[in-house]
Amino acid sequence: MPRVLIVEDERKILNSLARGLQAAGYETVTAATGPEGYRIALAEPVDCIILDLMLPGRSGLEILADLRRAGNAVPVIILTARDAVNDRVTGLDIGADDYLVKPFAFAELLARLRVMLRREHPEPVLRVHDLELNLVERRAHRAGVDIPLTQREFDVLAYLMRHLNVIVTRDMLGREIWKEPEHALTNVIDVYVNRVRRKLERHDLRPLLHTIRGVGYILGEEPCA
Ligand code: CA
Repeated sequence: MPRVLIVEDERKILNSLARGLQAAGYETVTAATGPEGYRIALAEPVDCIILDLMLPGRSGLEILADLRRAGNAVPVIILTARDAVNDRVTGLDIGADDYLVKPFAFAELLARLRVMLRREHPEPVLRVHDLELNLVERRAHRAGVDIPLTQREFDVLAYLMRHLNVIVTRDMLGREIWKEPEHALTNVIDVYVNRVRRKLERHDLRPLLHTIRGVGYILGEEPCA
């Protein structure tokens, strides 16, 4: 059950949001002051924060800035007053994921929340044509046949699938998978990609992984020369 922290000093709004979210299947934690909200945000695992900006003790913007400075990336939806355009812009600038202008329809909050949480928990299966990669079980199969992959081969394939129809350079793979600059690794990367290709491709299936000479690789459609 997703857990939502609501930081709001107007009791009526706080209570009705908490009740509404609970009815919609969320677990809620509430705080009515800035310092309390900040303390809970740091101390408890939450999946999303609904953060009013005008709060006693510490403003929502200060809380947000401090959370982001502390490396906390929890999705935050800020609640702003209709005339506070600057706050909205500042909030988004310092790391809010979305905002709602008061008064807002509860259904809209639910919709924003759903989008936010989907982004946080992406579907655990990547699919390209007949190729499927299960990111939780870390298994690959194509056209119904399991493809045994090593950890690194799996990571390379997942990266290529996430960049469907986009050219992936060796530099990108070096940085993202090996966490090293590409120039130290060019040959290693080629070896891995070729190994993935051999495991992936079958003569009776359409080719999926293409080499772009001198540039890198592309999974999906081969770009026209
Ligand atoms: Ca307020």
